[in-house]
Amino acid sequence: MDRQQEFVLRTVEERDIRFIRLWFTDVLGMLKSVAIAPAELESAFSEGIGFDGSSIEGLTRVYEADMIARPDPTTFQVLPWRGDRHGTARMFCDILTPDGEPSLADSRNVLKRALAKASDKGFTFYTHPEVEFYLFNHPADASSPLVPVDQGGYFDHLARGSTHDFRRAAITMLESMGISVEFSHHEAGPGQNEIDLRYADALTTADNLMTFRTVVKEVALEQGVFASFMPKPMADQPGSGMHTHLSLFEGDRNAFHEPGAQFELSKTARSFIAGLLVHAAEITAITNQYVNSYKRLWGGAEAPSYVCWGHNNRSALVRVPMYKPGKGNSSRIEYRALDSATNPYLAYAVILAAGLKGIEEGYELPEETEDDVWELTDSERRALGIKPLPQSLDAAIQIMETSELVAETLGEHVFDFVLRNKRQEWDAYRSQVTPFELKRFLQVL
Ligand code: GLN
Ligand code: MG
Ligand code: MG
Ligand code: MG
Repeated sequence: MDRQQEFVLRTVEERDIRFIRLWFTDVLGMLKSVAIAPAELESAFSEGIGFDGSSIEGLTRVYEADMIARPDPTTFQVLPWRGDRHGTARMFCDILTPDGEPSLADSRNVLKRALAKASDKGFTFYTHPEVEFYLFNHPADASSPLVPVDQGGYFDHLARGSTHDFRRAAITMLESMGISVEFSHHEAGPGQNEIDLRYADALTTADNLMTFRTVVKEVALEQGVFASFMPKPMADQPGSGMHTHLSLFEGDRNAFHEPGAQFELSKTARSFIAGLLVHAAEITAITNQYVNSYKRLWGGAEAPSYVCWGHNNRSALVRVPMYKPGKGNSSRIEYRALDSATNPYLAYAVILAAGLKGIEEGYELPEETEDDVWELTDSERRALGIKPLPQSLDAAIQIMETSELVAETLGEHVFDFVLRNKRQEWDAYRSQVTPFELKRFLQVL
């Protein structure tokens, strides 16, 4: 047993932990959990815990159903919302096949493989997400109109605002689990919030995001409200994005930083951005995986619709934030397509792969776009070489199908599963007769 595993066993005893939840994520980004008793810990570390993979989205085919979850002791945390006595803790797991090989269907493994590729080139990939979500009063279900918890807007400080208390409680809980929060504020929509996590390596960030969604849902229930990460819950209000700031480090040095260069961006950073732009359309079915995601991307309100980059341009897909002189290590770029319902493991894997491809192939970065791209006409955008992102899940799937980059990064199993699953979602969606159609056509036609 290694030192991390011993630390877990000791803490479980000292803190009187009775349940240890083993967490992992299915291919669609949903959290899965199985609780084990402390007595099972040693064998969970050595052999893992068996489960029926065929009941988990995307994991296996029925004829090879047995899978193993093996906890990663470095992710051990006591769950603060389960009380101090008879406490509960959790660890994230890697999924293994019955032969003990890493499962090719495990999202966490997809990201680990992408990070290993970056590491072969000497890079560590850091990410810092800005997570937006809505808080609604109960009942928040599909059959009744949604009632946001307040009427606040961007950065509003509402007297006695329930979202202050909400954010304070959620952040306190996150911090107690070792997840640092940098900023939090009311977002533009009524009842909409944003919480920004401090940068960390991408695997830690992805694990943290899975915890984040659970914590936000728990705290909301505790406070008698309902939290949703749906990309566009209300047609006439902004969607919930998950802009993510990205950087590559070589050791302690930020590889995106070059003193004296334009915006102090190194050649590595410029090629990385170029990679993102070239492959943006191919990776959109992963970064924006639901039919509803495209209502956000094409619904204005500062969500990106066009493939371009800009220095402080909030209509661009890739934004280069204001550079703070003397802070070379904070050089980074912001990818703005992601929404809060993405599977963070897969999304960060394909984003990294796109950027690395740009570096490998030495892609040239086009001119930055200084205009508000939404204000330009189609022909102006065409003249500038600015292409749209896919406008629907259907369009996104069709582009992803042809992508060698995405196939290679996800691996054949996950690639095929995502395509199959998303085609089914699209088919179910396009066969609906919507309230919009009834209102528009029933009487006049
Ligand atoms: N809500 C917007 C989006 O969907 C972002 C708004 C902002 O952070 N400026 O991307
Ligand atoms: Mg922000
Ligand atoms: Mg925001
Ligand atoms: Mg942002």
